[in-house]
Amino acid sequence: MSHYLENGKKIIRTLNDNGFEAYFVGGFVRDHLLGIESDDIDITTNATPEQVESLFPFVKHTGRKFGGVTVFIDKHGYEVTTYRLEAKYQNHRHPGEVTFSSNLNDDLVRRDFTINALVMDADERIFDHVEGKTDLNARLIRTIGNPRSRFEEDALRILRAFRFVSKLDFTIEPETLAALAEYRHLVKTITIERVMVELDKILSAPHQKRALQYLLQTGVADELYGIKRGIEHVVTLADHVQPLEFFMIAFILDDIDDIWRFSNRDMRLILQVINLHEVTKDDAFNKHILFSNKLEPCLIANRINVLLGHADQEPAIRAMWDEMPVHDVCDLAFKGQDILELTSLKRRSTIGLVIDDLLEAVLTGTTPNQYAPLKQLALHRIHELQSEMGETNE
Ligand code: ATP
Ligand code: MG
Repeated sequence: MSHYLENGKKIIRTLNDNGFEAYFVGGFVRDHLLGIESDDIDITTNATPEQVESLFPFVKHTGRKFGGVTVFIDKHGYEVTTYRLEAKYQNHRHPGEVTFSSNLNDDLVRRDFTINALVMDADERIFDHVEGKTDLNARLIRTIGNPRSRFEEDALRILRAFRFVSKLDFTIEPETLAALAEYRHLVKTITIERVMVELDKILSAPHQKRALQYLLQTGVADELYGIKRGIEHVVTLADHVQPLEFFMIAFILDDIDDIWRFSNRDMRLILQVINLHEVTKDDAFNKHILFSNKLEPCLIANRINVLLGHADQEPAIRAMWDEMPVHDVCDLAFKGQDILELTSLKRRSTIGLVIDDLLEAVLTGTTPNQYAPLKQLALHRIHELQSEMGETNE
């Protein structure tokens, strides 16, 4: 049995021994019943945050969840949150007001889906206020209460429904499904950062195809700023597609909106792969492409080509890379510094021209990557350049 579960029970027992109610709640209970191990433990209690804090030696207030305290055992955090009611939703997100409650039922009915509102005590007894167990057994995602008002209150739940499809391979219950389609436009009220987080979860979980199929079926895909064609393509693939691969495909297939936000590093890779795709989808990778882009981006571009129905060049790419006598300019046996010592040519751009010629000669195999022959070639090129431009103009 996982020591996270054992430590969670210790927290619950400590709260119980001090006269408070406390239960495991949410995703942890759902996953526990499904036999999925998790270290992400949420505990719900009628103790106030101050009361929780006073009972444990290592605690931290959590900004993430209102009324939450993180209790640490062996450096692992357990979220302990006070029962609460949520009311007055604004902008289809963020409860305008959070009120603590002394009633477990209040805390359960504010939750999104029935399978996420089961609680479990320290003896692993399950308490179910919302028929979550029935839905868990039937593998159904159903909102607690009227799905229309629940999605209207908080549009993030729309995307969360697809997240649980992808994670659990569950079916969306028909009323909930109809409401998803009806309220799909509310997705536009969610900040793009939150959309990215949920999309990342949808695409990272094992049953992404089923979730993407639902995104199309409900029309939610139409609300996702230009990535619909990417989704339509990815659902046809047998391979599991990583989030960044998905976006590369979406960018190639459509003019996706520039609302999407990526780290500079990811954006650079996306653009590099799009360019590589353009030059290699119908033509072979060659040593020059490999040299200037390096191995990893070329392998990613090749995978994107394959996912888009083009030929797989991976064995050829790897063989070429292994054969290349140089992979980087610093692998040259004759370097920029050596050129400086040979000549009065000092301009960096001129030195660069000589280096390019040396690289070309080595990559094409016309000159071995050795000091003496490269020095000879360099001298020859320097001489040519000097007579072309006149040394004084240098
Ligand atoms: P995962 O395994 O993906 O983490 P989870 O069910 O633990 O799934 P969390 O986002 O960690 O999901 O949220 C924990 C619990 O909080 C949920 O199980 C649910 O009961 C409740 N919850 C989270 N977000 C919402 C929301 N937007 N509306 C209502 N309840 C929510
Ligand atoms: Mg969780």
